[in-house]
Amino acid sequence: MLVRWLRLRKIRRTPFPPAWRVFLDRTLDFWSKLTADEQERLEEEIRLFIAERNWEGCGGLELTDEMRLIVAAEACRLLLGRPGERYRSTSTILVYPNGYFSGPSPTPVLGGGTVRVIDPVGTPVLGQAYERGPVILSWQHALDGATRHEDGHNVILHEFAHKLDMANGATDGMPPMDSAAQAREWHLVMTEAFEKLGRSLRTGQPTPLRPYALTNPAEFFAVSTEIFFERPERLDDWDPDLYRVLSGWYRQDPKARR
Ligand SMILES: [Zn+2]
Repeated sequence: MLVRWLRLRKIRRTPFPPAWRVFLDRTLDFWSKLTADEQERLEEEIRLFIAERNWEGCGGLELTDEMRLIVAAEACRLLLGRPGERYRSTSTILVYPNGYFSGPSPTPVLGGGTVRVIDPVGTPVLGQAYERGPVILSWQHALDGATRHEDGHNVILHEFAHKLDMANGATDGMPPMDSAAQAREWHLVMTEAFEKLGRSLRTGQPTPLRPYALTNPAEFFAVSTEIFFERPERLDDWDPDLYRVLSGWYRQDPKARR
């Protein structure tokens, strides 16, 4: 514990590498929209996030600082308004070069093993998140998601939204709530938005959420999170209540940043 504390103190006291700041500013569109104070807080979270995780390149991928920075910046961005929650149950991040193949019941990896290619048939997986286990990402899709900032696809945001959802022990589309009233409102608004998405897709109405969101409430929350951060105006237009409860939980208003 003391060793960890000393290590974290050392990280906090070391200035954020200027080259990293330039890289983030150049690569991630959202970075320049943050206030100087938010950038500073995020820089500290990113350093802690990188230092406290096992990072493993899989399938021959050699991980670089830039890769770790992008994953960390996107993951920590979700928690900008909730600094107390730090993905404590995510000790390992596995990164494949591209979409990878996973068996029908993927092996949960606790404490930092590696998921290998199990079943080289079927559709490649772009990312996965395990409760008390790793987050697994396809680097190509992670990079596309992070750098094509308004296409509404962001696998890093998606998988880390699952991790937030899992923090109360259930993957049910409801992360830990701050109060019973917030939980009630969340449930109501999410249920209505889920049904509205079903109706919109059946009747061919345009919607910012892709059909995959209807898989279950957990996917609905993860996909909504992608759109909330990448296309906030569009989400607010489509369903202001959904935007409001997400904004309330994340304690962020991405719409106001543009
Ligand atoms: Zn998902």
